[in-house]
Amino acid sequence: MASMKSDVVIIGAGSTGLSTAYELAKAGVNVIVVDRNLLAIEAAGRNPGGIRQIGRDHDEVPLMVAAMRRWHSLSDELKSNLEITEDGYLWVALNARELELQRGLAERDAAFGIKEFVYDQSQVRDLAPNISDFVYGGLYSPTDLIANPFLVAKAYHANAERLGARFLFQTEVIGLQIESGSIRGVVTNKGTISTPLVINAAGPWADRIGEMAGLKIPLTPCPNQFILTEPVPKILPPFLLISGIGVCRQSARGNIYIGNTNTPGGITGFSKKTNYGEMTRTVTNLLKIVPAFRGVNIIRTWVGTIDFSPDDNFILSKVDEVQGLILACGFSGHGFALTPIIGQLLSELVVNGKTSLPVDAFHFNRFKKGLEEKAGHFAHQHMDAV
Ligand SMILES: Cc1cc2nc3c(=O)[nH]c(=O)nc-3n(C[C@H](O)[C@H](O)[C@H](O)COP(=O)(O)OP(=O)(O)OC[C@H]3O[C@@H](n4cnc5c(N)ncnc54)[C@H](O)[C@@H]3O)c2cc1C
Repeated sequence: MASMKSDVVIIGAGSTGLSTAYELAKAGVNVIVVDRNLLAIEAAGRNPGGIRQIGRDHDEVPLMVAAMRRWHSLSDELKSNLEITEDGYLWVALNARELELQRGLAERDAAFGIKEFVYDQSQVRDLAPNISDFVYGGLYSPTDLIANPFLVAKAYHANAERLGARFLFQTEVIGLQIESGSIRGVVTNKGTISTPLVINAAGPWADRIGEMAGLKIPLTPCPNQFILTEPVPKILPPFLLISGIGVCRQSARGNIYIGNTNTPGGITGFSKKTNYGEMTRTVTNLLKIVPAFRGVNIIRTWVGTIDFSPDDNFILSKVDEVQGLILACGFSGHGFALTPIIGQLLSELVVNGKTSLPVDAFHFNRFKKGLEEKAGHFAHQHMDAV
């Protein structure tokens, strides 16, 4: 590796790094992806594959609309069955206040062409008869999708490699070479790669890469617990979101995925150890919403680390301090859904110096101004990481 060179080095082979490598290779750019692990070991392989349009931050909505267009043709484009299904999302409201919030979001999203329906309790029961009357109502988005995150990662990796991207797995980035304020190379535990451009897509560890360039990227790592059950006959038609409790979906094979909601106000850190207290709390609350889950056996549990930014929104920008460094991190638990568009936008930023969709709201500089403008973003308060 001692003499390796590349136009771009991407740090992190998660969904962000993989889709970006594919788009850059497609555009003819010489790219190397470095990951200290194997493919999709972190969030990219630990999320349940939810692709939701509902409940997005206002600035994210146009990107999500564009991402949806890409998802619909992605299996064909990557020549791989990504197991994409239109299950729809149902964000249940537990009280009248939450339903009103959802009504406002549905009206906002309608202006972007997204069809969402505000349901009262009986309409929710018509859609999902196994939901209890603990639920007050809900917001239903029938066109939201699910994909298999492992197949997505595998397909992006294979296609990027086919187009010439190089991958260095089990290789850890331990430093950045910076001269006169410009990136010159990436130092790994196996040698140095010369490059004028680095994309920091290191997920919850992106702040450590930031420190190598003298930057303070404000990220909080939060462990989120997941459960997979044995396959059972259909109980739940759509992907379910429950504020303050978690997420839940049933796969085509019948297995139920249950995830908790843990944000910076809760447990923080990088532990991958199953937290039985958190899981018991999630399942106990979930059984109030879907009593039919009682008695279903758990076959697997895992933990995924979410990289929360202070305003629950991701960072996608160059930085003023170091020429040649681009940040793509802080996806705060909802980056998988954006995978195809994030790769596209980052490639545009590298190749054209600008993006085809507005990304100013996601600039790193917003954290220098303080967070007043974004205070009150509902994701933490109402929905948490979903
Ligand atoms: C439990 C859970 C549930 C989620 N649910 C959803 C969902 O339903 N829908 C949705 O849209 N999103 C969801 N997300 C978020 C989504 O998975 C991520 O936002 C998305 O996959 C993007 O992740 P990433 O590529 O930025 O980071 P990651 O997948 O975490 O990848 C970062 C990579 O960087 C590597 N790395 C770190 N440091 C170094 C270093 N020094 N040197 C080399 N490599 C390094 C790591 O090994 C890792 O592979 C969820 C996340 C989790 C954890």
